[in-house]
Amino acid sequence: MPNVPTILQRLTAVREDVARAVKRAGRDPASVRLMCVSKTQSAEIIEETLAAGHRLFGENRVQEAQKKWPDLRLRYPDTELHLIGPLQTNKVKDAVALFDVIQTVDRMRLVEALAREIRSSGRAIRLMVEVNTGAEPQKAGVLPSEADEFLRVCGETYGLPITGLMCIPPAGEQASPHFALLWQIARRNGLSELSMGMSGDYEQAIQLGATCIRLGTAIFGARISV
Ligand SMILES: *Cc1c(COP(=O)(O)O)cnc(C)c1O
Repeated sequence: MPNVPTILQRLTAVREDVARAVKRAGRDPASVRLMCVSKTQSAEIIEETLAAGHRLFGENRVQEAQKKWPDLRLRYPDTELHLIGPLQTNKVKDAVALFDVIQTVDRMRLVEALAREIRSSGRAIRLMVEVNTGAEPQKAGVLPSEADEFLRVCGETYGLPITGLMCIPPAGEQASPHFALLWQIARRNGLSELSMGMSGDYEQAIQLGATCIRLGTAIFGARISV
C-alpha cells in the first residue's frame, strides 16, 4: 500500500492545522491543548503516538484504559490521561487510581463517590463537569439550567477541584451555539478550562475558547467501532 501516512505524519499535519486555527482566532498557542483520543486503539498504536512525542490522551472506558495504560505509563511517566466517557460509581476507585483528569462528572451520586475516593486515596486528581448543552434525553451531562447549582455544590459541599467544563454537541447540529453556551457557563462560574471540539469541529471550538480539543479520527483515522 503506497503512502499510508504514519501516526507521526498525521499528528504533525493536525498540529499544523490546529496552530493555524489558533492563530486565526488570535489566541496564544499555549492556551489550546491537543488531546489524542485513543479509545479502541491498540497499545501498539498508542505507543507509536507516544514515541512521536505526544503526551495528552483521552479514553472513554475505564476497563479498556486499565488494560492498555498502566504498562504504557510506566514507560512514559509524563503522560497525562483523561477519562472522557461516562463513569459508573462502581468504577470510581479504578478511575481515580488511573486517570489524571475525569472530564465527565455529571451527577450528585458520582460527586459523592468521587469525593469519598479522592479523600481516602489522597490522589491529586482534577475534575471537569460534563454539560448536556443540547439537553438530549439519552445523553450524559448536567443540564445547562442546573449547571450553576451543580458546580456550587461540588465546590461548597464537597470541596472538589472542578477546573472546567466539557461538552459533546448533538450530532447533526451546528456545534458553535453549544460551544458558546459552554463558554458562558464556564465564565460565570469562574472556570478556566473548556474541553470542546472533536475532529469535525475543532476549528469552531478554538474560535469559541476551547482549551482542550479531543481528536480521534483526525489522528488515527476512522474507528472500526466506538
Ligand atoms: C470519540 C470521542 C472523541 C473523538 O472523536 P473524533 O470525532 O474521532 O475526533 C472526542 N470526545 C469524546 C468524548 C469521544 O468519545
